[in-house]
Amino acid sequence: MSSSSLENRILFSVLDSPQLDLSVVVPIYNEAESIETLVQAIADAVAPTNLNYEIICVDDGSKDGSTQILTNLANSRVDLKAVILRRNYGQTPAMAAGFESAAGKVIVTLDGDLQNDPADIPMLLAKLDEGYDLVSGWRQKRQDAALTRLLPSKIANAIIARVTGVKLHDYGCSLKAYRAELIADMNLYGELHRFLPALAYIEGARITEVPVRHHARRFGQSKYGLGRTIRVVMDLLTVYFMKKFLTRPMHVFGLGGVISLATGIAMGTYLTVVKLFFNQNIGDRPLLILAVLLIITGVNLFCFGLVTELLMRTYHESQRRPIYRIRDIFGKQ
Ligand code: UDP
Ligand code: MG
Repeated sequence: MSSSSLENRILFSVLDSPQLDLSVVVPIYNEAESIETLVQAIADAVAPTNLNYEIICVDDGSKDGSTQILTNLANSRVDLKAVILRRNYGQTPAMAAGFESAAGKVIVTLDGDLQNDPADIPMLLAKLDEGYDLVSGWRQKRQDAALTRLLPSKIANAIIARVTGVKLHDYGCSLKAYRAELIADMNLYGELHRFLPALAYIEGARITEVPVRHHARRFGQSKYGLGRTIRVVMDLLTVYFMKKFLTRPMHVFGLGGVISLATGIAMGTYLTVVKLFFNQNIGDRPLLILAVLLIITGVNLFCFGLVTELLMRTYHESQRRPIYRIRDIFGKQ
């Protein structure tokens, strides 16, 4: 084969951007000691499946040398891509950045601290093959502090399951497998990564869970404390609203507005009749204040419904805007 036709073929295959079978996405924030072991463990776990895979490590503004370790590793391994974010954005944006770079038909996520066991990946994939769109890990024997982590998490899981309607035991487990199309449909903000199953459910996904192993943190320390619980509750409210009313805010605000306005007008009419035809004084009646209040509230709610209706349209129809800025991409392109 002449060198130019070889070049053409290579060029062609690059343009064709062959889809991979699997992308493993790992957010990394100050996990220097774990990175090499983790990447090798993922490769060892996935290799026997003969899948065409890539590992994408997203460095979320680490300050402990993780960036350098990742960059070097990505330059020496063909299966690793390192995405380096400009600063620390948080786990959700880090994962979103990884999703954006992923070329796999299936995407698996796990933590960068070796708490999830890469050896569980094939089991998740097998479950996905049974026809699910999302398989979530369930850390049955979770190795974290009982009072500050396990108890809040138990309560949070129960509430989330109730509110979102997705019956999982462990939303916080990062080890999950997704079909890539599903990820493409979901926008991530705040700390919404733990609500991915709920968001996926909104998108109509088939979801299940499998028990997975969980290890105590070997190096470094957890990036979260109790404060996370509050942020999770706020995110839960957002998800609840999105699930219930995202495409029809007018039904909520507009209905309230109409009821309030109609009641106010009825009271106002009554007062007008009393004043005009029966010549009573209405200036000191509490009903007058209530009528005015209801009318103003009603008009406000109604307008608010209209505005949110427009906002939702913009939300759905505008182009997607990333919630992160990538500084560099090294390694496997
Ligand atoms: N992480 C991140 N950015 C952050 C915080 C955490 O990318 O701002 C990563 C972290 O490196 C780890 C994963 O998110 O891979 C989960 O974090 P951690 O292990 O601290 O959470 P825990 O397991 O204690 O819930
Ligand atoms: Mg952890």
